[in-house]
Amino acid sequence: MKYVIATLPGDGIGPEVIEQACAVLDKVGQRYGHSFEFKEYLAGGVAIDQVGEPLPDETVAGCLASDSVLLGAVGGPKWDNLTGDIRPEQALLGLRSKLGLYANLRPAVLHKALRDACPLRPDIIGHGIDIMVVRELTGGIYFGASGRRLGPHGEEAYDTESYSVMEVERIARTAFEIALKRNRLVTNVDKANVLESSRLWRSVVIKVAEDYPEVELNHLYVDNASMQLIRDPRQFDVIVTTNMFGDILSDEASMITGSIGMLPSASLGKGQFGMYEPIHGSAPDIAGQDKANPIATILSAAMMLRYSFDLEQEAQAIEDAVTRVLDAGCRTGDIMSPGMKLIGCSEMGRLLQEAVELLQPSEN
Ligand code: NAD
Repeated sequence: MKYVIATLPGDGIGPEVIEQACAVLDKVGQRYGHSFEFKEYLAGGVAIDQVGEPLPDETVAGCLASDSVLLGAVGGPKWDNLTGDIRPEQALLGLRSKLGLYANLRPAVLHKALRDACPLRPDIIGHGIDIMVVRELTGGIYFGASGRRLGPHGEEAYDTESYSVMEVERIARTAFEIALKRNRLVTNVDKANVLESSRLWRSVVIKVAEDYPEVELNHLYVDNASMQLIRDPRQFDVIVTTNMFGDILSDEASMITGSIGMLPSASLGKGQFGMYEPIHGSAPDIAGQDKANPIATILSAAMMLRYSFDLEQEAQAIEDAVTRVLDAGCRTGDIMSPGMKLIGCSEMGRLLQEAVELLQPSEN
């Protein structure tokens, strides 16, 4: 199969990590008989410098004409003093809305080799943690009516949480579809004991669940969910939740796994189109020094293979390669620990390509 991937390297370490992710994808293509064509577009600070705006129309058109999008990171001190719409981060918000990306997938996986980076006790981690947080991305309180007004006690401010049946239905469906590819358990997180929007949310999730009898569904209030993530994270497979609750819980879940340089993400829209990116920023402090950890971006590419192209075996090959290289003791600076071998971004990419090539089909 041939796939066209729009790449948006962006700023700081973005170009370095994207280069390694493309090289690994090329290796997967050679190994499994696919061809990936990469088309690079401007986004973020580099776009402001070159064409005066963070998200040029050409970039949006290029993304829409591709099978999926791979983004590095945007922003940096050079553009910190800009105001209004001419800011690198506007590229991210613009991409989400213009590409119709309403489902944010944030996996939290603890690699055995990085156990020491986990702040939880070994008996709580057990044999490992593998959670997928599915966060609604384009609705809820972040997009509802908000403002200031004069109340009986002076000035007040308000934000509104509101969800339509359609918005809940589509994110619930995304969560159940993902659960089918994993351990078939969905935990719905809401605040249905207090919020009317949560009561509607929960009733719609229950209705959608009827179409997925193979998947188990349970419910937690968000306050309990935040405790359970620390008390017993192994009880979770897929968590589906609103924009604001997902914002908070996905960061909590990712802290359990240690380094920011290891965490991928996906934002999905209609059909199988998606934008894939590491959760970290442009890390200006290490940019251009070959110190960045490319694994978060490379695992984002693996998510692309799984969720946009349905290439499960190929996605697994990348994830197995990461495990193999970590097990061999190779580390970039952010995940370095005593006794391990310190390597740079390009060497980590090279080792991962090599591991993809060397893994026996039976191993993945
Ligand atoms: P950051 O994630 O860029 O960096 C935080 C710390 O983690 C830094 O010490 C950095 O060196 C380290 N780090 C991050 N990614 C790493 C990697 N792959 N390998 C090794 N170390 C890594 O967050 P920040 O410093 O708060 O933000 C820097 C810039 O990035 C800002 O302009 C911010 O607005 C932007 N940002 C962009 C995105 C995005 O594009 N999605 C996300 C967050 C921040």
